[in-house]
Amino acid sequence: MNKQTGLAILGSTGSIGCNTLRVLEALGDTFRVVALSAGRNMEKLSAQIERHRPEFVSVETEECAGLLREELRRRAVAVAPRIGTGEAGLVEAATHGQAACVVSATVGAVGLVPTLRALEAGKRVALANKETLVMAGELMTRAASASGAELLPIDSEHNALHQCLRGERRAEVRRLILTASGGPFRTCSSAEMEAATVAEAMRHPTWDMGAKITIDSATLMNKGLEVIEAHWLFGFDADEIDIIVHPESVVHSLVELIDGSMLAQLGVTDMRHAIQYALTYPERRPTRLAPLDLTKLSTLSFAAPDAERFPCLTHAYRALRAGGTMPTALNAANEIAVQSFLGGKLKLTDIPRVIEQVIDQHDNSSPLRDLNQVLAIDREARAQAVEAIAGIQNSICKTQSPIMVS
Ligand code: MG
Repeated sequence: MNKQTGLAILGSTGSIGCNTLRVLEALGDTFRVVALSAGRNMEKLSAQIERHRPEFVSVETEECAGLLREELRRRAVAVAPRIGTGEAGLVEAATHGQAACVVSATVGAVGLVPTLRALEAGKRVALANKETLVMAGELMTRAASASGAELLPIDSEHNALHQCLRGERRAEVRRLILTASGGPFRTCSSAEMEAATVAEAMRHPTWDMGAKITIDSATLMNKGLEVIEAHWLFGFDADEIDIIVHPESVVHSLVELIDGSMLAQLGVTDMRHAIQYALTYPERRPTRLAPLDLTKLSTLSFAAPDAERFPCLTHAYRALRAGGTMPTALNAANEIAVQSFLGGKLKLTDIPRVIEQVIDQHDNSSPLRDLNQVLAIDREARAQAVEAIAGIQNSICKTQSPIMVS
């Protein structure tokens, strides 16, 4: 019998996916990759296939599958994997019969259905895709408790909280404190943020990540999404989850106990720690990573977040307090606004404006019931966000038109 744990990685060519494969190599033969999924980077995926020999891979489209077959021929890979596409392919990877653990590291809403199916199938899910919990936290946690699946966070703050909470009773914990680096605009004025370019927003001070999460870090929406994520992972309410700005990103998060004691998890800013923890829990295994050298740290600083310059924080707390499908609408609006900013069609400071318009419009009267409802609200909020963006662009054209005709 094979004692290796079968692993599926959704989003294998992204930052978390690549780091997961590095962790597996360092762990030796504990895990075996059985399924991978990737979007469009077929060159990287074919190299991963050559090295890890998964039984199944999933890619975005048939066109990608054709490119992948070519790449595999070029590399003379002897045993090519079965190839699936689209959402059906992602779900097949997430529910692969030989996978006991699924690393969910796709970006955004596309990860929702496959992650939910993995939980329903009783697999351990190491979750990097926070959007899935924001969109449908209730469905995800319900599915996990019904099947007995474990949900372990890879997001560094939640991974830190998981570590801090390991030995504590829920009733003895007063609050969770998520640390935030503050992003590249931490010390900028509102006027400077209005004029921020994509290149400036992509310059994250401490973490090297994909485009979506880097922009979310620049608006602090990433932290807002993380507050909602923490609610679903650990069962704390909005009033029991706080944010503190900590530019050095050494303290990955803290918990405060009812006697005033605080527990913190500290470490270097390398996602491989959190990934390995989520894969090997409840065991801890050595890593090749250099530990944190406390004597080299001159300062650890902490400050309250500025909700005026970063209104996404207010919007996220509002959505969590409102409950129901409000977080689903918030997430959809944010994804569309971020895409639009990355495409040069929206200012950074318009992102929270788009989100506010969408959540103002959202009818939150019916409770969150099922996946179809979540997907319908996701689509509706995306359409509303597109409209809100068009409105903002129109108003810019109107204010500029006198200059253009003169
Ligand atoms: Mg994080």
